[in-house]
Amino acid sequence: MVETVSKRDIRKLKLEELKAFFIEQGEKPFRAQQVYEWLWNKSAKSFDQMTNLSIGLRDMLKEHFTINHIKVDSMQRSADGTIKNAVTLFDGMVVESVLIPTEKRITACVSSQVGCSLACKFCATARLKRQRNLSTDEIYDQVVAIKEQAELFYGRPLTNIVFMGMGEPLLNYTNVITAIEKITSQKGLNMASKRITVSTVGIAKMIIKMADDEVKFNLAVSLHAALDKTRSSIMPINDTNPLEELGEALRYWYAKTKKKVTYEYVVWKGINDSEEHARALLKFCKIIPSKVNLIEYNPIDDGEFQQADDAALNMYMDLLERNGITTRIRKSRGKDIDAACGQLANKS
Ligand code: SAH
Repeated sequence: MVETVSKRDIRKLKLEELKAFFIEQGEKPFRAQQVYEWLWNKSAKSFDQMTNLSIGLRDMLKEHFTINHIKVDSMQRSADGTIKNAVTLFDGMVVESVLIPTEKRITACVSSQVGCSLACKFCATARLKRQRNLSTDEIYDQVVAIKEQAELFYGRPLTNIVFMGMGEPLLNYTNVITAIEKITSQKGLNMASKRITVSTVGIAKMIIKMADDEVKFNLAVSLHAALDKTRSSIMPINDTNPLEELGEALRYWYAKTKKKVTYEYVVWKGINDSEEHARALLKFCKIIPSKVNLIEYNPIDDGEFQQADDAALNMYMDLLERNGITTRIRKSRGKDIDAACGQLANKS
């Protein structure tokens, strides 16, 4: 049997490295630029798509490299138009990504980790435990796949990206940032940073790091409670990363970036539906300019958590709005196919 030499994934090479490779092969360095454009800007999945390269050159590339690409395995469409993808990664692990259409936007909701280490009590992904981080390419490819679906099924461009799929993006910081750089680059997908939102459980030291890095995308924090005792009881991260520290990090964020933060907040019956909680949220909202998305709870189990009554939601809404905090109630999308927030991994 002939021993096969394992080929390198060409997308792991930086443009400079690709140039060096071409020179080594006695080829013109501008070929590297062409290949790089095919790989990122045009999202080519095979060397045969690279029609401005000679067949000989394509064969040479095939001898040395592969193009690893995620596989969108199964696709479910919700009655409201939401599409949920099961995405198979290079090593066979599976994550999920979601396309969310509205009248004005098409949003891609992408995953950053296989599973999650944060153990938020109300979230289905938490039950999978963290397996590994996604690579830059695996994050990028999810966006490409949804961009293609937007065009194919809706005849519209992808407009927004939210890192609200599986995992905690700030615990996979380097790969998330590198993917965003590629997504926003002219050599990549050329999307605007202000259309991208990274959602975090609120890891203070990483928020400070992002501020220092002067990132240009939006920040959302999954707050869910503005009283430490309650927040710790539903989100274990709060034990080591309490609200005071989170608030300090957010102050730093705003001082550096001048960007508002969005708080994601679910109101649950008997957990945070009292006026005391609403007042605590209002106080927290005053730390830096912010807005609030009151998100509908998507049940994941037997009912330990239940969506609060409309009266409680209205109480929150009135108090916040009266005090100048923009507040929106976010209805769930894709619930019938378990594609809604916190439902990823449910039943799969
Ligand atoms: N780890 C990041 C990214 C996940 S985003 C973060 O925590 O922000 C997923 C969003 O859905 C978060 O705001 C999360 O708190 C929320 N969520 C989790 N489970 C939910 C559920 N069952 N119903 C509604 N929202 C949920």
